[in-house]
Amino acid sequence: MSESAVPEPVPVPEPVPAPDPAPPDRRRPALSPSRAADFKQCPLLYRFRAIDRLPERPSRAQVRGTLVHAVLERLFDLPAGDRDAQAARAMVGPLWSELCGRTPGLAADLFDGGAEDPEVPGWLESAEALLETYFRLEDPRRLEPAARELLVETELGSGLLLRGYLDRLDVAPDGRTRVVDYKTGAAPRQVAEARALFQMKFYALALLQLHDVVPTELRLIYLSDGETLRYQPDEHELRRFERTLDAIWLAVLAAGATGDFRPNRGRMCDWCSHRSICPAWGGTPPPYPGWPRDPEASAEESVLDRAG
Ligand code: SF4
Repeated sequence: MSESAVPEPVPVPEPVPAPDPAPPDRRRPALSPSRAADFKQCPLLYRFRAIDRLPERPSRAQVRGTLVHAVLERLFDLPAGDRDAQAARAMVGPLWSELCGRTPGLAADLFDGGAEDPEVPGWLESAEALLETYFRLEDPRRLEPAARELLVETELGSGLLLRGYLDRLDVAPDGRTRVVDYKTGAAPRQVAEARALFQMKFYALALLQLHDVVPTELRLIYLSDGETLRYQPDEHELRRFERTLDAIWLAVLAAGATGDFRPNRGRMCDWCSHRSICPAWGGTPPPYPGWPRDPEASAEESVLDRAG
């Protein structure tokens, strides 16, 4: 399904109102694509993130992803004719300052010398390089997204509440819809791709539930290597995926009742912050704190989750 990124003519959709997400019910437990993928990959990782809510030190690559996502979101605030690479590059420094202002200690977590560290300019340039790649893949002057950073929240027939944010939704004048997700991570493609497709099917199913329409295309834009993955879901497949999510949630609830969240050692352990307390690596986890009293917490996605 991967293919080389060849710039293609893209439709210029008329601006249309963003779809209204269902009214949120913040007290009900919900499943997000990141946490569902965590559980599928490693139940213990799900527990550490969603139940113990152990802190994770962000990596430079994750924060760079957050920064690039922020630029690509703000870019569409500009008049169409002004959305060029120069304008995008000019946003990097101010958005980095904004991010640091909102997250005290972030710069010091990433760089020994904090915001003044001599490595910061080179790191910001690496964010600019990802944005340069974006402009080789799409021409944002020809796009008018229906929504950016859209919260989608919907209930499946089983009663399971889905909640997640998608990067961009394009709606063409004829009603065709495209879900777009930007990927900036450094994980190997074969590891990241399955997780990314899972995430995209999650959004497609949520949109199908909300609007009774199967998105025409799911598009993953890999800014680290300049490739685009396009995928056309069909309703049968999304309904099968719905059953998969229901099964995952039942497994989460069963593990939550007993505390039996098993580790699943694999390649993603290389990116896991919790190896030192993971029994698969000789560590000892903290005592199981029990199913969260605040069910909303178990679904929460951070901006770092979404940066990918
Ligand atoms: S180190 Fe690996 S097995 Fe252990 S919790 Fe993390 S991802 Fe799971």
